[in-house]
Amino acid sequence: MEKNVDINKVVRQHLQMEQFFTGFAPKGKANPSEPDEQDDGAAVAEARKQLEKIAEEVCQCRKCDLGSLRTNTVPGEGNSNARIMFVGEGPGADEDAQGRPFVGRAGQLLDKVISAMGLKRSDVWIGNILKCRPPENRDPRADEIISCLPYLQRQIEIINPEIIVALGAHAARTLLNTTKSIGQLRGQFLEYYAGIGRPPIKLMATYHTAYLLRNYSPENRRRVWEDMKKVLAELGLPIPEWPKK
Ligand code: URA
Repeated sequence: MEKNVDINKVVRQHLQMEQFFTGFAPKGKANPSEPDEQDDGAAVAEARKQLEKIAEEVCQCRKCDLGSLRTNTVPGEGNSNARIMFVGEGPGADEDAQGRPFVGRAGQLLDKVISAMGLKRSDVWIGNILKCRPPENRDPRADEIISCLPYLQRQIEIINPEIIVALGAHAARTLLNTTKSIGQLRGQFLEYYAGIGRPPIKLMATYHTAYLLRNYSPENRRRVWEDMKKVLAELGLPIPEWPKK
């Protein structure tokens, strides 16, 4: 005789088992029909607390030479429960002055991209591979990336986004551990390895908005927009019209 199976209960048990064995808590509820707002609220508050702790550590950091050159650290900011994390290369002059990521011209263009996607800056999380500005905006050095990357890895682990958008070659190559060009990497979902026992996170590489500003052609803008449309589609979000400007 067939037994009546409560599929929601089975799913819940499975997720609890998975969490027990791997320490990985998937985003969303085991049973979306059962509101669990208190738990969600507590989890989000805990994530925020952990992110603040990382920001404090970054603030004290002297692991590489950039620590003595900075005005402010730029740990990253945004929604601690974000479905999308945008990751750039490192702070520029404006970010160093304000201690906030993507607030200069490249940041204003990123804001436009985010709003063209039908989202707000507060919906997503925005940060960088490096938390301190390299002098004269030079490329990040390998030793600086090695020192700084654990902060971002922990931020990703806490936020556990569904998608990481890597802005530009440095972010994409670092997160994917590859030397391929941004032209080869962009436009397709690749995987960020999130650690033992954790499922990989989908990563979409695209052109950095600073590159886009320097090469503001309709083709490049369309390429970035095509990449962002894939991100929206993957998340099941509506895809707005292509922004003409
Ligand atoms: N470029 C980056 O890569 N990050 C910023 O925060 C600003 C500009």
